[in-house]
Amino acid sequence: MLPFRLVYHERYDLHLGEHVFPAKKYRYLRDRMLRTRFAAPEDFVEPEPATDDDVRLVHDPEYVAKLRSGTLSYQDILRLEIPYSRQMVEAFWLAAGGSTLAARMALGCGIGFNIGGGFHHAFPAHGEGFCAINDIAIAVRRMQSDGLIRRAMVVDVDVHHGNGTAAIFDADPSVFTLSIHQFNNYPSEKPLSSLDIHLADGTGDAEYLHRLGNGFRAALAMFRPELVLYVAGADPYLEDQLGGLSLTLEGLMERDRMVIRTSLMQGIPVAVVLAGGYAQSVEDTITIHLNTATVAKEVLEKMQTSGGWRHQAV
Ligand SMILES: [Zn+2]
Repeated sequence: MLPFRLVYHERYDLHLGEHVFPAKKYRYLRDRMLRTRFAAPEDFVEPEPATDDDVRLVHDPEYVAKLRSGTLSYQDILRLEIPYSRQMVEAFWLAAGGSTLAARMALGCGIGFNIGGGFHHAFPAHGEGFCAINDIAIAVRRMQSDGLIRRAMVVDVDVHHGNGTAAIFDADPSVFTLSIHQFNNYPSEKPLSSLDIHLADGTGDAEYLHRLGNGFRAALAMFRPELVLYVAGADPYLEDQLGGLSLTLEGLMERDRMVIRTSLMQGIPVAVVLAGGYAQSVEDTITIHLNTATVAKEVLEKMQTSGGWRHQAV
């Protein structure tokens, strides 16, 4: 049995039809985990959808009502870049419930893992870039409102800047946002994160790991979070169709190891969400996400054999 649960729901599929966003990847990843015996059926746990009250911790009530009632404008849907459907809305609510559950589980055993979520382009009053609501921010706000944490850090390594998350937590001293991304890529406007690491086109493993390592360690030294939300996008991969960085599969695994190990070593739990991934071959995207889970398992098991992971009292 895995040392942490995998949060998954069969209705995570966004029902996009033929679309560059491979919305079936959640099911494919679950299937690959079972087929390779990385996980057993009992390792999975189903989330409840977020409640509308949870969603309104982050999003404007008018926007939530428009999503719920199917009254988004044509402009709203164009900006979202995915077709509207009731299943799509339900999938986003489930993803937000899933990231919230993963955050709660991380506080218990050190790692929470949502096989979904990471919709970092959603703003309080609009969605864009395939993201209708921001599950990352909803999870943070729910943990805070339940009194489980005060301070959180979002570590966003998706190839695209975490613009929605940055805007949501702008001027909020309780949440530190770190985004490392390709500068010359969507979104063209990048609201300031607490720490933005802009990378040139084609940046490879060595420079990426060096800059992320320095930035992340410096962030942890100045801001002591009680929870890290790890937005583990697969799209910095060199064969990604929407990304222009050049990370290898090994480099991406080293990235995951750095973030997860550094956090757990300092007594900070990590909730992982998947975010983007548009490799030429969807199998590569699945491999990258599975590797993130494998790294989380290895790091947590190693810590358990050396005395166990302990949530640091802050
Ligand atoms: Zn992305």
